[in-house]
Amino acid sequence: MADLACKLLVIGAGPGGYVSAIRAGQLGLDTVIVDEAAVGGTCLNVGCIPSKALIHASDEFAMAKVFAAGASPLGIRVGAPEIDLAKTVAWKDGIVKRLTGGVGALLKKAGVRVMAGTARFLDGKTVLVRTAEGDKRVRAENVVIATGSAPVELETLKFGGDVISSTEALSLQAVPERLAVVGAGYIGLEIGTAFAKFGASVTVIEAQKHILPLFDEELTRPVQRRLGDLGVDLRLATRVLGREPGGISVEAQDGARETVVADKVLVTVGRRPRTRAIGLDELDLTMAGPFIEIDDKCRTSMRGVYAIGDVTGEPMLAHRAMAQGEMVAEIIGGQKRAWDRACIPAVCFTDPEIVTVGLTPAAAKAKGLEVKAASFPFRANGRAMTIERDDGFVRVVTRADNNALLGVQSVGVGVSELSAAFALSIEMGARAEDVAATIYAHPTLSEAFHEACLAALGHPLHI
Ligand code: FAD
Repeated sequence: MADLACKLLVIGAGPGGYVSAIRAGQLGLDTVIVDEAAVGGTCLNVGCIPSKALIHASDEFAMAKVFAAGASPLGIRVGAPEIDLAKTVAWKDGIVKRLTGGVGALLKKAGVRVMAGTARFLDGKTVLVRTAEGDKRVRAENVVIATGSAPVELETLKFGGDVISSTEALSLQAVPERLAVVGAGYIGLEIGTAFAKFGASVTVIEAQKHILPLFDEELTRPVQRRLGDLGVDLRLATRVLGREPGGISVEAQDGARETVVADKVLVTVGRRPRTRAIGLDELDLTMAGPFIEIDDKCRTSMRGVYAIGDVTGEPMLAHRAMAQGEMVAEIIGGQKRAWDRACIPAVCFTDPEIVTVGLTPAAAKAKGLEVKAASFPFRANGRAMTIERDDGFVRVVTRADNNALLGVQSVGVGVSELSAAFALSIEMGARAEDVAATIYAHPTLSEAFHEACLAALGHPLHI
């Protein structure tokens, strides 16, 4: 006997799950959403938003230090700044609270019932939810699995004590004197850079030869330069052997071993889908490696069971989860929908930021496409000069035969906001000529997109 019945049960109230539930509610579907933690998931509570808040605070602090040192050409001078990280974290928590409170209100407005508890499948239509008031059985016509992901732990460096994941790093109450970051992916570098700006002495250990191994070196070079300027000690092609008193032991490619002294060790070596504790054995769903396999409608191998977000694979990004969540709600609501997006933008909020949308030149070539790549540097962009950061560029990748935009990449300060123009152009099937024929406000960084397209057509104006 079920304690509760509904048309749709969403497991997990992260960006995938809560968007799915809100859209389902808007469509009039009787919807229940369950989460064992606060609504908002990883993204709002311990991911995207908290990290961007700390990055912003660290940027402000770093700027104040430049002013205090009399090192700014702007003629601004202030006294020596101090950081009260507990206060910064409290401010960040306030933003998280506002956003998660907003999500709660939106769910309510959409008529969605919210349950606090841990869900586990009993069969494809029945889920047991362990709540503070006892176990409840929910019977649902459709179930959306949106259980997200969790940080990967290293066998040699288990979480606990001073070995922390991004979750703990985003709530530290004081700046550690020495921070070791294991893994130079975007999460490690975003947080590591923030702490370097807060004044920690940061060492980054990466097993691969490059930082941000998923991005090409042309894009990562300005980030690596800036890490150097900030005094971050980069140990590439180096692996961690294990914990040692006062730090961690590492081994370089040539076999040389040493101890990296650290007060905190932040391990950011990836994230794993949260599939273990939800009773997937009862369903015997087809998997794609550690992820749940889905089709272009986010259907799993079991009828009426859908999966969205990080639990379904890369790219593990909030906006992908949200787009899938919206689509699935509409499919369950009877609409004809399928995944037909041309691109999913990805942003590293490093310093400077990196944006990639669509195909890189290498990815296009790997697909056997004949492409051209053209770029425009920010050092020739007036706006970049006026904000004192002209390292970086916009690069466009176009089809050689008809100039259709297949990809846009950029590295530079504030380029995350350009991702909208890049994605829209690709989604609308724009050609370099369309971007070239658009008027871009002056002076803005977006003019570099215009110029990169003009360069692709062979006639850039400002270089
Ligand atoms: P999640 O957000 O992980 O939510 C899953 C929810 O399911 C959780 O609330 C969890 O409590 C709940 N749950 C799990 N199992 C159960 C169960 N059995 N019963 C009940 N509830 C359960 N992405 C970006 O796009 N941009 C960024 O800038 C960005 N920055 C990030 C920074 C950090 C430090 C981290 C860690 C991640 C970042 N991400 C970013 C990734 C982003 O957070 C995830 O891609 C996104 O949250 C995935 O959404 P989701 O809905 O799939 O899952």
